Amino acid sequence: MESNSMQHLVTREIERLSGVKFRWPKLPPILEERFEQNIARQRSAHLWYQGLIAIILFDLFAVIDYFIGDGSSWKAVILRAAVITPLALLVNATMRWNPGKVYREASVAVVIVIVGLTQLYIQTGGSAASSAYAQAGLVVCILFANLVMRLQFTYALTTSVILFAGDLVFLHFDHFLDHQEQLLGLTLTGFALLISMVANFSFGRQLRLVYLMLLRNEMQSEELAFVNAELHRISSRDNLTGLANRHSFELYCGSLWQQALSDGALLSAIVIDIDRFKAVNDLRGHLYGDKVLTRVASLLQQSLRGKDDFAARFGGEEFVVLLPQTSQRSAMIVAERIRKLVEVAGSPAVEAAEPGTVMPTTVSCGVATCLPGEGYCIEDLLEAADKALYEAKRSGRNRVCAGEVSATGASHCSEEMSATRIGAQSESSLRATARKVLWG
Ligand code: GH3
Ligand code: MG
Ligand code: MG
Repeated sequence: MESNSMQHLVTREIERLSGVKFRWPKLPPILEERFEQNIARQRSAHLWYQGLIAIILFDLFAVIDYFIGDGSSWKAVILRAAVITPLALLVNATMRWNPGKVYREASVAVVIVIVGLTQLYIQTGGSAASSAYAQAGLVVCILFANLVMRLQFTYALTTSVILFAGDLVFLHFDHFLDHQEQLLGLTLTGFALLISMVANFSFGRQLRLVYLMLLRNEMQSEELAFVNAELHRISSRDNLTGLANRHSFELYCGSLWQQALSDGALLSAIVIDIDRFKAVNDLRGHLYGDKVLTRVASLLQQSLRGKDDFAARFGGEEFVVLLPQTSQRSAMIVAERIRKLVEVAGSPAVEAAEPGTVMPTTVSCGVATCLPGEGYCIEDLLEAADKALYEAKRSGRNRVCAGEVSATGASHCSEEMSATRIGAQSESSLRATARKVLWG
């Protein structure tokens, strides 16, 4: 199911269960299944823990049985110790294995019914005190099923009705209580049943409501995280070409420089500019120009092989590539690969109806390499690549030239200009800095 319709369903159920009117707490199957999966482990643990305490208390009652019993006390002790306790312990132990819902609820319900009916049986034919005691015991069983073990509603109701029916049978055959006392006992059991069932029902509804609210929060947080990731992706990518944009480049180059600095590794930069792009635009129009830009960006990306190689659209028809742990010789090979690939495949097809002749797309590349830390800063590297690009343009375009990085010293790599701190600068000062560095 789509997350939107799921959210809609959850909201609808929250509204349904929040109303003051009587509402059946069972959720639609898909939500009920999720709810069950969510609570299963905790519910089994709850049943195990409460069950263990109940078994201990149940066996302590053997002492009371003994004192009020008149001849049947050994029957009670044997039933408690030899039949019910082992059965209850066995069922209780299976809760450790986190069983399925039907077994979990039904097995506990069966044990409680057996305990309740045995309790009636033990007190049968004793005295007026034991008959009254049987009534109280039955009330305790009903409260235990509905409020302590909090059996799920239908199991709780079935258990309570069976115990109540057992009480009716017990009172029918009882000779010690008069009519009035029997009615009193039955009323007591009936009220205990009704009140505890109302509480059990409210508990089930409340539990589902809390679950749905948490689920809705979780879904909303997931949606928010997705939107945030999408926003981040959009803000860091260039719309037209899909490459990292200028902002990302400025953030990333600082960290690449730092990395190279701490690794003591070479860092290379290639600055790429499409040749005579203005003429392409003028001749074939801006839409065609955009196609060229997209294609060059894609070829650029395809030319990169290193996992940390980074390409960005720097602006207009200019691109920049950073190659960590790459010597100048290798960077020249990459730049030549880019140049060649664009020369061969850089011109998008022209539709027959479009005017003008096909113009070959070529790029010029400037390459520079340095070892960070030897008195250089990243601006020196980019400036050297830019100078090499200028050289490539000057010597006829569609070529790759390499430049020498020269440390321009403290004035150039001032603290304010340091690319390692580039991420901390404001957007406008970044733009000014980068333009000045790259394009003079
Ligand atoms: P050179 O070989 O010296 O680089 O010449 P050039 O014509 O490429 O350089 P110039 O700086 O004169 O022109 C760059 C052109 O790039 C001008 C501008 O119209 C175009 N341009 C910049 N951004 C875009 C864009 O997003 N889409 C299109 N279609 N054109 C763009
Ligand atoms: Mg240009
Ligand atoms: Mg150009």
